[in-house]
Amino acid sequence: MEECIRKLLHGFHNFQETYFSGNSELFAQLHHGQHPRVLVIACSDSRVDPALLTSCDPGDIFVIRNVANLVPPYEPGTGHFHGVSAALEYAVRVLKVEHIIILGHSDCGGVRTLLDPGMDFSGSEFLKTWLSLLEPVRKKVETYLPDAPHSTRCRACEEMSLVQGLKNLLTFPWVREAVESRQLFLHGWYFHLTRGVLYSYNRSTREFQVLTGHDQDYNHSWEVAK
Ligand SMILES: [Zn+2]
Repeated sequence: MEECIRKLLHGFHNFQETYFSGNSELFAQLHHGQHPRVLVIACSDSRVDPALLTSCDPGDIFVIRNVANLVPPYEPGTGHFHGVSAALEYAVRVLKVEHIIILGHSDCGGVRTLLDPGMDFSGSEFLKTWLSLLEPVRKKVETYLPDAPHSTRCRACEEMSLVQGLKNLLTFPWVREAVESRQLFLHGWYFHLTRGVLYSYNRSTREFQVLTGHDQDYNHSWEVAK
């Protein structure tokens, strides 16, 4: 058996022996259904597991993961398979979550490919179309930050894609309705992989601010691009 699979089985055995056996009441309760109060929309990236990052228990968060933690706009119709929109609908209309967190992260390969001129998507069957959701963000960065360092442009792109996602969430009528009646609250969080810091988007100041952790070097040099 391959080492990577053996590691997973060993991990599951460890889960059975410790977490599962130590939380038998919780799992007995979960048998009757899930009632998560939070939906997290996160990247598929193997380095940013939302449940691990937030030390959540099973049943705490409903999770949608996709390349670059994107939210497509509301596009009803039967001609396509809307995986993200279907999960969003289930979370908001059936589970009635009270919070939606879009969780972005630093070093996001999906977002950074936008700024990499060497990236050739001509042979892509799905990625190119999916990442085209970020085209407005790329254009803004190209317009307002053409000469900024690559790292600043990447971070701007990652943060602005979160803001774009929050805007796209509001194109879903039942999301907008729940937000306006204050039954649902939207959040944009950004996890910095090497600093271990979590930032949150402040809608009033239109800035990302440290939510938990320390980052004295953080600057907002891309503000103009918002
Ligand atoms: Zn990512």
